[in-house]
Amino acid sequence: MDFTVLTLFPELVNAFFSHGMMSRAIDKGLISGRATDIRQFAVDRHNSVDDRPYGGGSGMVMMPGPLKAAVRDAKACNPGSKVVMMSPQGEKFTQAKACELAKTGTGIIFICGRYEGVDERVYTELVDEEISIGDYVMTGGELAAMVIIDSTARLIPGVLGSAQSAAADSFTGDRLEYAQYTRPEIFDGKKVPEVLVSGNHEKIRLWRKESSLKRTFLKRPDLLHRTGLDDEEKTMVRQWCRELENLAAS
Ligand code: SAH
Repeated sequence: MDFTVLTLFPELVNAFFSHGMMSRAIDKGLISGRATDIRQFAVDRHNSVDDRPYGGGSGMVMMPGPLKAAVRDAKACNPGSKVVMMSPQGEKFTQAKACELAKTGTGIIFICGRYEGVDERVYTELVDEEISIGDYVMTGGELAAMVIIDSTARLIPGVLGSAQSAAADSFTGDRLEYAQYTRPEIFDGKKVPEVLVSGNHEKIRLWRKESSLKRTFLKRPDLLHRTGLDDEEKTMVRQWCRELENLAAS
């Protein structure tokens, strides 16, 4: 899968591609990624990429010409690519969207706005979809593009160490991930739950499932309304109810 980020700050994005999981995935040939400087597609002698808004008002707006040339250049390298505009007005990004993008296959071209945003004709002429990373406004789309690439790339088979680590992640199946522990077995007097050192895989599976359910119930109950409880979870909740009733009666 190929990621191209069209930006006025390529160093910002190239630093991201050259560290950690991203750089390893690129080295392994699982993804490719690059930042392209929109300014290299400016046509006037000042290398302008933005101008004042028609109708007046504060700030500057990114011009459509350099962006069109930048998209055309990126598409020439990877014709099947989808063009995604980073925008606070777009569809809100979720784990489900990351899964969808990870299956896109070919490539994604991200357009990062700056200043007051981008000329409206870019949206209508060049963009396949608009994505927002949340209901707040940032000074540019680069962080948003990196958020999306990071969470999408880690879902591509082989990018993470083991396929299981993505399967149990928070939001997969509308549940938060279970509590995790590592060495030492006793830390500041607190012991790791007995079951996790028992070696009994079925008991560990059920303990983790219950831990996921508890955490989701306490931290993000809204997720439970999206996907109802399965039979094992219903049994767990009935057991909690019995325990709470016993507590209330004592
Ligand atoms: N005036 C615009 C915001 C411009 S912010 C408005 O009110 O809608 C400048 C650029 O930052 C945007 O073009 C977009 O690319 C990026 N950006 C800002 N907030 C964002 C968000 N929540 N998600 C994705 N991109 C965002």
